[in-house]
Amino acid sequence: MITVTDANKRYGTFAALDNVSLEIRPGELTALLGPSGSGKSTLLRSIAGLETLDSGVVTISGRDVTGVPPQKRDIGFVFQHYAAFKHMTVRDNVAFGLTIRKRPKNEISKRVDELLGIVGLDGFQHRYPAQLSGGQRQRMALARALAVDPQVLLLDEPFGALDAKVRHDLRTWLRRLHDEVHVTTVLVTHDQEEALDVADKIAVMNRGRIEQYGTPEDVYDRPANDFVMSFLGSVA
Ligand code: ATP
Ligand code: MG
Repeated sequence: MITVTDANKRYGTFAALDNVSLEIRPGELTALLGPSGSGKSTLLRSIAGLETLDSGVVTISGRDVTGVPPQKRDIGFVFQHYAAFKHMTVRDNVAFGLTIRKRPKNEISKRVDELLGIVGLDGFQHRYPAQLSGGQRQRMALARALAVDPQVLLLDEPFGALDAKVRHDLRTWLRRLHDEVHVTTVLVTHDQEEALDVADKIAVMNRGRIEQYGTPEDVYDRPANDFVMSFLGSVA
């Protein structure tokens, strides 16, 4: 469960988040959908603790995380341009969070094998990131984020830099992964089709506000206002 209550974030006089409140139920996959500059990344980064709110409260699994640094929020994070450790193999990249937590070696091996299986990268253990395709690299990033069993998975346009076919495959795959792992997930996207296809709930953002929050059917069939209608209507 993630709650955001009355979140405000300004840059100068510009409101990147304008009194945003949101409640994400455990195990749900929520898409933050909206045009460029609408505040999606700012909201996600605030949940992650990478951004400090001017006011408002974020809770993760019932815990007020105000002032708690990202590494202590029990989250996994994947960005559009994922920064893998280039000098480490796939295996060591995925194992990283477990290694720094000094988990036993046999436990790490077992967990890494399991994760690589889940993300479809069996047999890629000994490759280096440069030897993977973009889609494979993002799947490695997801395995790495999931390694420490986070309560929450935060994804900021993880497939944004990839071509349409690969994006589509990864979308299907993310849905399957989510059905299997059931981690509470927040996915930032500006792609209406992606949000409608993959999410349990969609928060439609515009100018630092949430215009509507509901199921894909809610926002598509019963748009709350003209903005939601025209934004969702621009599905190709
Ligand atoms: P995109 O789809 O382009 O990634 P977004 O919805 O993720 O957009 P944000 O990155 O959350 O948008 O930015 C929201 C607004 O806040 C934008 O107008 C942006 O210019 C502004 N903004 C974000 N970070 C800063 C910053 N560090 N300083 C000043 N303005 C910022
Ligand atoms: Mg963004």
